[in-house]
Parts: sequence; structure tokens; C-alpha cells
Amino acid sequence: MKTNHKKIIPISITALILLLITLFLLSNYGNKSLEKNIKINNPNIITCIEEAIKNQTSITENIDQINEYLLDKSHDSEYYFIKGYLNYINSDYEQAIENLNLASENIVYSDSPFVKIYTYILLNESLEIENQYDSLIENCKIALNYISENKNYKNDIDLIWRTISVLLNNEEQINKSISLLNTYLNNTKGLTDESIVRLTGNIGQLYRLVYKYSDAMYNFLDAINLIESNPSIPNGDYYKIKLLTNIGDINFTLNEYENAINYYNKSLSIKLDDKNKDALSKSITIINKCQSYIELEQYETAIQFVNELNELLPYLDYDAKDDIEILMCNIIALANIYQHNFKEAEIQLTKATKLLEQDEFEYSLNKDAFISLAYAKLYKEQKVYDQSLLIYNQVLQESINKGLGLEEDIYQQISEIYKEKQDLNNYAKYNDLFIKQKNYTTQIFKEDYIEYTSNLYESNLLKANSQKYKFNLLIMFFSLIILCIIVLSKTISVKKLRNSNFMDSMTGLNNRKYLDYYISKNKKRLLTKAISVIIIDIDYFKKYNDNYGHIEGDKIIKEVANTLKGSVRKSDITIRYGGEEMVIILSDISPKDTEIIAQKIQTNLKNKKIEHKYSDVSNLLTISIGIYTTKFFGQDIYTLINKADKALYKAKKGGRNRYELLLDEKVDRFCTI
Ligand code: GH3
Ligand code: MG
Ligand code: MG
Repeated sequence: MKTNHKKIIPISITALILLLITLFLLSNYGNKSLEKNIKINNPNIITCIEEAIKNQTSITENIDQINEYLLDKSHDSEYYFIKGYLNYINSDYEQAIENLNLASENIVYSDSPFVKIYTYILLNESLEIENQYDSLIENCKIALNYISENKNYKNDIDLIWRTISVLLNNEEQINKSISLLNTYLNNTKGLTDESIVRLTGNIGQLYRLVYKYSDAMYNFLDAINLIESNPSIPNGDYYKIKLLTNIGDINFTLNEYENAINYYNKSLSIKLDDKNKDALSKSITIINKCQSYIELEQYETAIQFVNELNELLPYLDYDAKDDIEILMCNIIALANIYQHNFKEAEIQLTKATKLLEQDEFEYSLNKDAFISLAYAKLYKEQKVYDQSLLIYNQVLQESINKGLGLEEDIYQQISEIYKEKQDLNNYAKYNDLFIKQKNYTTQIFKEDYIEYTSNLYESNLLKANSQKYKFNLLIMFFSLIILCIIVLSKTISVKKLRNSNFMDSMTGLNNRKYLDYYISKNKKRLLTKAISVIIIDIDYFKKYNDNYGHIEGDKIIKEVANTLKGSVRKSDITIRYGGEEMVIILSDISPKDTEIIAQKIQTNLKNKKIEHKYSDVSNLLTISIGIYTTKFFGQDIYTLINKADKALYKAKKGGRNRYELLLDEKVDRFCTI
């Protein structure tokens, strides 16, 4: 039985989101040293300012030199930019706004992309500080356009993040920044795969902040897919650790603790050569994993795993180390409170409080709130109710003010205390608040899910022909049933839903809906890639059904599906296309390699020695294969599958148990692999 002490710690997860964003994004700042001053030797002041910004150094020593330079300079964009920059570093933001606005007036004539980009970035940062929000979005858009046009800047994800980070103050702004980043991702040519991974992951983080968990999950899975399909992405493993942890966190948020632990474990199983980076990324994952164990009431396991952190602590730098130690204490304290070892719990909380007092730089925010929560919990369990109520009310206020999202849990705890105290009026009041809050949270899940189904609806499926329209109605019906389940129970994770919607339940292969989703999501990435469509059909399957029965027939379909899965890469798309027909989409592959895969599938099936006495070609079960190879160029995937079907027909005509390859005649002109 789950008891009432559930969900005391979602705050740390919430708080950690910001931490993760910081780490995710700033990871590449890593080892930069902070020299305090630089000498201006370079005659070009603009270059010096750029260096100063890039290296986070100061140019205040050279102010005279700059002022002298400005005396002779014509009053163009660069002139006002330099003035604005000086105002900005002197914290005179009002003046900075004025000068940077002047700089922006004739900015199109400037031939320095740096000036163009930073005019808007510094302007926006000054505007934000002065609480002037009106033109932030428009300025961001312009800055992002300039960044995306320039080959030196377009892959600078930290710069992109700096640009949009003025837009993270509220939900509306976050939604806007998501759409700006999505546009950037889709419209910028020449992004590296590493940039795509980082941007996709960061957009996923933003979706999380506005509770769009399914979109977040899409993004994380997409980024992981990309890393897996391209092993040469720099820092790929590092990003994968982060992405897996994020998926774990979403599962945690959705109360899917076992799933969460699974993802945390996947993340923890990746080893990074850089011990410091390894420790930094994993310590958070371990904390979250232990929190999941606490939610599952496996307190001993939580304590056991939290101790693994001791090995990582020496590799953490000072600022991160004490944050992690505080989180560690918190976990051990909670585990002890629930087991009624109050002495040990108090020791841990005292230690955490001391560390917190010394903490200068906060990697993870709001730690004080959840240490307070742990104290409140401790007092509650010790039946020191007044003290507990006092703290709960304080944290409640903080949560409401700062949007920490702790209300549901606190209302529940308070209502329980009043129940114990037999103060029934207050019990009723807080229980009511608890239920209202819970319904509100459920509503968020519901909206997320509705958005997900409507996204599906907007995808290629809608534009398809009437036959597909029927198919669509089926999906809608299926979706509605699932919607009811999620509203009722809230415990099914979005990922599970998505998988079930995208998966053929009999074979575990993906379904057509996934194909539509996959193509619409990857259209841009696949655009210039060679792709091969393989269609597979079982030979004389009707005879198999007629003689062995339908149930045996089903087993055969599953067996063939397994053979396909075992013969292709994980990143390849394998779909149950119709009854006994399956389709594989391979990208970035030559016709020759596609043939090798077709041969491999046939050999693997042959090795399974499945009997089919009634086949006209063999005593064993065989399949025929049609292949069509082309360059994608955004062609309709169903047209390509039809072409592969033509090749299949040829294979059937040619005697079955064989493959036929149909080449796009144009492909020779394009295809270099
Ligand atoms: P061919 O070699 O020309 O492909 O001959 P075939 O008998 O396999 O012909 P076809 O591919 O047209 O036959 C499809 C058969 O697959 C008809 C149907 O009974 C069977 N089938 C389709 N879906 C399922 C299913 O889900 N389970 C079972 N057991 N049979 C299925
Ligand atoms: Mg068939
Ligand atoms: Mg057949």
C-alpha cells in the first residue's frame, strides 16, 4: 500500500530542470579560464569586444582608448553599438537601450555579423532588466535570423540560448521561444548533427517547463535516435546521458517510477572518459534515481545507491559538489524519516542546512524549500504538528510565489495533519484545496494529451486519401479510449501511450502511423539522403493459414517480424504495413548494402527452418522481397512503397523466395555512395 507520504520531493526534480538546462547548455563552457582583463592590441575595437564577450573578460581598462577611437568615428551602427556596449557593461541599461536602439536603425548596412547579432542580444538583455517586454520577441527573431545566416555563428548553441534566454520568464514566453527555436532548427541550413542534438534536446527541456511532456519526449527520443545513427557526433555519449536522464525525469513526473529508474540506469551505464564531466552528469541522475526509490518506498535501496555518489564527489568542482551533498543528505534524511529513524534524519538535515548556509553558487535551485519540506515531514511524523504546519505554510507560500508546483503535496500533508488533530473544518478545507489542485494537474495532462492527438491529426495522415481517412477515424477512436484512461488514472506515462499508438501490438513492429510521424519529423534530415524501401511478403501464406490454421499463421507473422528486427539496425524503421506485409525504410544506404540486408533477412529466416509443407517453392517458409532505392528529396513515402511493391511483384512472378531491386533511374545522377 502506498501511504500518504508520497510525492514530497517533486520539487527537487522541478528545481533540477533549471540545473539540467544550465548543464545541458553550458556544458561546453567547461574549462574556460576567466582571465580578468585583456590588452587591446588589435586596432579593431569590435574584434576586441567580441573577444571580451566570448572569453567573459573585461575591457574596462581600455575605456580611454575606446573613447578616443569613438571621437573620430562616424555615427553609424558600430558607433552606437560600442556606446551601447559600454553602457551595458557599466550597468547603465537605460542608456544602453537608447544607444542599441540607435544602432539597430541602420543595422542592415553593417557588415559585421557580430554587431548585428549582439546589438539585439544586448538590447534585449537591457530591456529585460528594465522590465520592458514589448519588443523582446521581435528582437529575438531578428537576432536568430542573423545567427542562422552566418556560418561562424549558426552552430553556436550557447549563443542561441543566450539569445532566447530573455524569453523564459513565463509560460507564454517559453512557448514563444519553443516556436522560435523550432523554426531555427527547421530552416537553418548547414547545422551540424551535434547542434541538432543539442537544439532538439533543449527544445525538449522547454516543453517540459510548460508541461508538454509528450512533445518533450518526442524531442528527447529524436535526439537519442540521431546520436545512435551517427556515432561520430562529438560528445554524443554525454548528450545521451542527459537525454536519457531527462526521459527518466518525465517518467518520474508522471509517477512512473520503475520506468524512470530504467532510464536512469540506461543513462548511468554510459561511461565518459572525462571523469569530471562523467561525475557531473551522473550525480544528478543518481539523485533522481534514489528519489524514485523513495517514492517506491524502497528506502534501503535509495540509501544504498545514494552512497555511490561518494565515489563521484571528488571529481565534482566545488560549486556543484556542495549542491550534490545537500541533495544527498536530503535523500538519506527522507529515507530515515519514513523508517522512523528520526535521530539519523535530524543529523542529515542539520548537515544539509549547514551546507546550504555556506553555499554560494546555486547549481540547483530551491534546495532550501525542499529541505524545509523534509523538516516539516519530520515534525509531522514525530507528531509535532504545530511546528510542521508552520513550515508547510511557509513553503506553500513560497511555492505559490515562485511557481514551484508543490501545492498539491502540501495541501495533502496539511489536510492529513488536521485530520490527526481532529480539526475537521480545516481538514475539509485543505482536502478540498488538495482535490482542486489535483484536478488542475490532471487537466494539464489532459491538455497535453489532446494536443498530442491533434498533432497527429495534423500530420500527413489528414492529407491522405479517403481510405486513410477511415484509418484515421479508427485512430481517433482508439485515442479517445486512451484519453479516458489517462484522465481516470493519470498513471499511464505518455511514452507508453505513444508507443502503443505507434506500435503494432501483434508483432511489436511500428505501424503506418509511426511511418507518417517519422517522415514528417525527419523530412528535413532525410532530404538529400539516399533511402531504400524494402517490402516483404510471405510466400504462399494463404496456404499456410488454410492448412495450419490462423493462430499458427499469426505466430509466423511474429517470427518474420522478429527476423526483420534482428536483421536491421536499431535506427532503421520496420513497419507492419498490412496483414502479412512488412516494410523497412533504410536511410543513408547504397543499393548494394540494401541488397546485402535483403540477403541477410532471407538467410536469417531460412536458418529458422520454419516448416511450410504446402508451399510451392520449398518445404520451409520463404519470403519475397521488393526493393526500391532512390534519393528522398521529400517524395511521398507511399509512392516509394508502391514502387517497391512493383519490385515485389516481379520477385513473385520470377518464382518467389527471392528479391528484386528497382533503382530510381535518376539516382545514378545523385547517388555518390
Ligand atoms: P503470395 O506468395 O503470392 O504472396 O501468396 P499468398 O498466399 O501469401 O498471397 P497473399 O500475400 O495475397 O496472401 C495474404 C494472406 O495473408 C491472406 C490472409 O489470409 C493472410 N493474412 C493477412 N493478415 C493476416 C493475419 O494477421 N494473420 C494471419 N494468420 N493471416 C493473415
Ligand atoms: Mg500479401
Ligand atoms: Mg503472401
